[in-house]
Amino acid sequence: MSVIYQRVALIGLGLIAGSMALAMRRAGLAGEIVGYARTAATREKAAEIGFCDHVYDSIGAAVTGADLVVLCVPVGVMGALAAEIAPYLAKGATVSDVGSVKRAVIDAVGPHIPDGVHFIPAHPLAGTEKSGPTAGFAELFDGRWCLIVPDDGADAAAVAKIESLWQGMGSKTDRMEADHHDRVLAVTSHAPHLIAYTMVGVADDLARVTDAEVINYSAAGFRDFTRIAASDPTMWRDVFLNNKDATLEILGRFTEELFALQRAIRKGDGAHLHDYFTRTRAIRRGIIEAGQDTDVADFGRVHGENPGESTAEDK
Ligand code: NAP
Repeated sequence: MSVIYQRVALIGLGLIAGSMALAMRRAGLAGEIVGYARTAATREKAAEIGFCDHVYDSIGAAVTGADLVVLCVPVGVMGALAAEIAPYLAKGATVSDVGSVKRAVIDAVGPHIPDGVHFIPAHPLAGTEKSGPTAGFAELFDGRWCLIVPDDGADAAAVAKIESLWQGMGSKTDRMEADHHDRVLAVTSHAPHLIAYTMVGVADDLARVTDAEVINYSAAGFRDFTRIAASDPTMWRDVFLNNKDATLEILGRFTEELFALQRAIRKGDGAHLHDYFTRTRAIRRGIIEAGQDTDVADFGRVHGENPGESTAEDK
């Protein structure tokens, strides 16, 4: 592929930014890739790995001259960082983000975008429970969806350009309206993460997790929950605080279903349980048929060449 953006500035240098830089490099999509991170430790690690051509300790210097700026930080700080970069943005540049929540990010970032600068939010549905600059890998987005969330008045050429960037990084792309995005992700990602956090928290409350028996004999279900519950606390705090309504709506429905299953167990209603589990099994089959997972019984174990491969999941 050929160069799509001359200078890409990545703001925040963790799992997603690192993976973007490596995926852009792999396909030669950017003339120059530069980065900014707030802490010296992250900047030094990113410079050592070398996925950026230059790592800045000044956000203004990183953004200056960029034709694409991507916010790769927790969603709760995107508004404040957008205000900081605004004076340095060049006319005609595009600002995008990779946040797991879209409406709150649009409301926080949008007002800071100067006239003549495009703002085109995006969300790659790919990630792992690892974070920081060492967690990135070039294949993270391969075959995964990236949802592009432009508003009605967005510049068509700028939208097409960022779509081609994500496609060049290996993603399949789709466009989605922000509120719809947040409702879909509440079901597919945000509520499941909260449930995983809760289950691991319950086990911890029962003080059994630290027992060697529970660790040694932890069955696949619990082990999968612990992997998800190891995800970055700041990122997930911000996801729940910024997708409050949709997550609470899904958790309300979840609680109703849980009560119904609880009742079926108490009453010995095996038919209810069997019907329910048959329905859910079909959903798993659908995900495999759609190519969004493999039919390998991996229980979180690595089968691919890359350590992140088998755990890549939608966030
Ligand atoms: P990450 O690996 O934890 O990296 C986060 C980066 O943000 C770090 O460079 C960190 O800087 C910086 N940062 C954190 N708080 C900051 C603040 N207050 N001011 C300035 N910089 C700050 O996170 P990630 O997994 O790449 O996630 C980044 C974004 O992608 C999030 O919005 C998340 O919702 C979204 N996303 C994540 C996934 C996933 O699975 N992880 C998937 C899709 C989308 P320091 O290291 O210097 O502290």
